[in-house]
Amino acid sequence: MTASGVHPDLAVDAEELTRKLASRDVVGVTIGWVDNNGIVRTRTVPTAELPAATRRGVGNTTAFAVFDSHDGITFAHEGLATPSGDVRLVPVVDGPLGVTAMAGQPGFAFVAGRQLTGDGEPWAYDQRAVLERQLDRAADAGFGLVAGFEMEMVVSHEDDPLDPDGEVRPAHRGPAYSANAIRDVGEFCRTLLADLAHDGVRVGQLHAEYGGSQVEMALAPLPGVGAADAQVLARQTAHAAARQHGLRLSFAPVTLMAGAGNGWHLHTSLTAADGSNALTGDGPHGLSEVGLGYVAGLLDELPGVTAVTAPSTGSLLRRRPGFWASAYGFWGIENREAALRLVPASALLGPGATNVELKASDASANPYLSLAVVLAAGLAGVEAGATPPDPIGEDVGTWTAEQREAAGIAPLASTAQQAREDLLGSALVRDVLGDDLLGAFVACRDADAAWAAPRQVDDVVASLRWQY
Ligand code: GLU
Ligand code: MG
Repeated sequence: MTASGVHPDLAVDAEELTRKLASRDVVGVTIGWVDNNGIVRTRTVPTAELPAATRRGVGNTTAFAVFDSHDGITFAHEGLATPSGDVRLVPVVDGPLGVTAMAGQPGFAFVAGRQLTGDGEPWAYDQRAVLERQLDRAADAGFGLVAGFEMEMVVSHEDDPLDPDGEVRPAHRGPAYSANAIRDVGEFCRTLLADLAHDGVRVGQLHAEYGGSQVEMALAPLPGVGAADAQVLARQTAHAAARQHGLRLSFAPVTLMAGAGNGWHLHTSLTAADGSNALTGDGPHGLSEVGLGYVAGLLDELPGVTAVTAPSTGSLLRRRPGFWASAYGFWGIENREAALRLVPASALLGPGATNVELKASDASANPYLSLAVVLAAGLAGVEAGATPPDPIGEDVGTWTAEQREAAGIAPLASTAQQAREDLLGSALVRDVLGDDLLGAFVACRDADAAWAAPRQVDDVVASLRWQY
């Protein structure tokens, strides 16, 4: 049973579902998908139209695949070079989260969407289908994916919540992780926790983060596509909760250059057929052979993976040494400065707890694509029987360039040019996204880079601040 009161088994009966929603005074169902900039785009249908939308979708322009972060449309990708074309956006009413009547947005329900061609076939640019393909591949190999996002946000007062150029006006005074800070935003946090519970999004914990007026909520891990759906829903719930208190949230990778950015660290693990954690074992660092392969595969593919999981101009600015934001491509055990942090199982946590945290992950990523490339990279390492180098416990940013080179550690991309090369240089990313979607994704990155090139860093940061 989801929090909306809609049982997934019944959800396929769209008529019944519609009656239930209407009886709860839901007048509109918002169908959301995430574009190639991590921006959640939506169409809302009157509740009575949900059965029809479930059967044949609602019309959507193909151009959404080539929208950039500033609502510009780039026609630089050959496959979508004209304004002509239409796809069907279909609400996934029988998805893991079903349809959620939202606590913070009375009258509206939210449901994830998939994009199909007019013939009802998977559309090559549909990000959800990309993840589903990788999950199928993993299942064939005997594995499931479990994932959870830590979502950092900046909480701001705002006189005019719609001002696109609004500055950050801190809603808490710090200190980081303090009771004082959380008390400052207590009413918001209360609504947030209540609404997340109502909306069926489980969180492990909430705290005031290190950055100015920052709060973090850590989502509980979920299997497969549900992990991405929950992350998308959680954003809606959080924004709506903030609005009720005259506050405004920024999930953007960087809100101000002066402090820490907003990471959306991505924790993943694999489950075996019996549901146990396949990464846990009695090998080095408490890892199984699968676990060693998973870490090695991710480490090997980090540049390409990162270009998908932290892809924007804001992501590049966030990735600064010393900010626990994965400036360098290396792994460590519980090392906060590493791009890959192994969280090992322990006596207290139990054998199911082993997971790998990718710090190069933020709100400007499409969560479906992120999970797809992470899973594919990890599985590639498993299939190759790879083993990672020794983990590093130090902050390699304090090493000399020669020391890093000797250890085979390179910075992750900090320029759009490097990120582009990393994207196009990864056979794995090409295989996962497919040529069409990769082409559109690169065109979006190019459009954003061209937008940013003549501008000051602070203007780029400001332009993305309220987009997420
Ligand atoms: N705010 C940091 C980032 O940009 C992360 C801090 C933490 O480790 O939670 O990723
Ligand atoms: Mg954090």
